[in-house]
Amino acid sequence: MENKRRFSVREIREDFPSLRQLVYGKNLVYFDNGATSQKPQSVLDSINKFYSKDNANIHRGVHHLSQKATNEFEESRKTIARFLNASTHEEIIFTKGTTDGINLIAFSFGELLKEGDEVLITAMEHHSNIVPWQMLCERKKCSLKVLPINENGELLLEEIDQYISEKTKIFAFTHISNTLGTVNPIKELVQKAHQFGAVAVVDGAQSIQHKPIDVQDLNCDFYLFSGHKVYGPTGIGVLYGKEKWLEKMPPYQGGGDMIKKVTFQKTTYNELPFKFEAGTPHIAGGICLGKAIEYLSQFNFHDIEKHETMLTDYAQDLLYTFEDIVIYGESKHKTGVVSFNIEGIHPFDLGTLLDKQGIAVRTGHHCTQPLMDFYKIPGTVRCSFALYNTKEEIDFFISAMDKSIRMLK
Ligand SMILES: *Cc1c(COP(=O)(O)O)cnc(C)c1O
Repeated sequence: MENKRRFSVREIREDFPSLRQLVYGKNLVYFDNGATSQKPQSVLDSINKFYSKDNANIHRGVHHLSQKATNEFEESRKTIARFLNASTHEEIIFTKGTTDGINLIAFSFGELLKEGDEVLITAMEHHSNIVPWQMLCERKKCSLKVLPINENGELLLEEIDQYISEKTKIFAFTHISNTLGTVNPIKELVQKAHQFGAVAVVDGAQSIQHKPIDVQDLNCDFYLFSGHKVYGPTGIGVLYGKEKWLEKMPPYQGGGDMIKKVTFQKTTYNELPFKFEAGTPHIAGGICLGKAIEYLSQFNFHDIEKHETMLTDYAQDLLYTFEDIVIYGESKHKTGVVSFNIEGIHPFDLGTLLDKQGIAVRTGHHCTQPLMDFYKIPGTVRCSFALYNTKEEIDFFISAMDKSIRMLK
């Protein structure tokens, strides 16, 4: 057993300089981690170090800096491969983020689809796990099916056989809902996809920071996440794909780095993972994402999970004491997110008053408009938690809620 760092929220908070600031004269309470997370000092230092000392383009220079930058970028890929337990680092493709990764699959794996094939998604998907599939279905004359949910915000698994069949080629679903916090039984969903010969695409944008992930154990075909939601930089993300699929898939974009040989008559493509990384990548982003993953890897992941689930339950229990509250997403399997409305109050007004007390929450549809339509609401107020949040922050938020509601009613 490796020696892991003790999980102390007080010590963790010391690692995140952006948490130590006043907003309108109040201590910042940052509950918008589902949209993006704050960054630890080690990530900030590595951004600064890269641009001030190691900056060079990768994979082509013979000179010292280029080799150093290449090594760090490729080491980061290996760190990420170990973190996900991929069978080889060649299965780790750097992207711009989850959205970019899903588009890559839709365009490239999508080329293998034929007219009449089907793509299955769920009713709780983020727009980025809906729209690229709609575009693919339009392009290839395929149809999109949607597995519905119940009022608690759980998938209707007992009805899945009505939506999946041998025609289904892709089953794409989120691991954790960014709006409801529902944790889906993804291992079961992967098995279901495979039973019908479909590939399973897991949107991990909300799970990589909350749960230990083992892609081999899950046996998923693709798993995607964004760097910025896992304490790393924006503009960088990861697509994990099984080697056997990545080998079959055509390149998504053409350009430098993704080629072996170019003539005007014919181009041969580079091997994995470079086949999918055309052009100069976000080098600093890739390196710093590795640092963010190293930061998380110091801890025993079960401590992180336990803390964040405790915060979610604690916030939810206190919120239930408000009159006229509706909480969206009441699955027993839920973490990281509490979404709610107070009857008669617009989420935007509540969010604005909370902001004036230094509290950052998200209001709106959270890029899940079909889910808002399901609940027949324009939006919700959403608190989403990270490893550095505390019970004291939730207590402060609850008293700020009390004040705000009295002003608005
Ligand atoms: C944020 C998010 C995305 C999109 O991530 P980007 O970083 O904007 O590409 C996709 N799915 C879920 C569940 C998300 O929370």
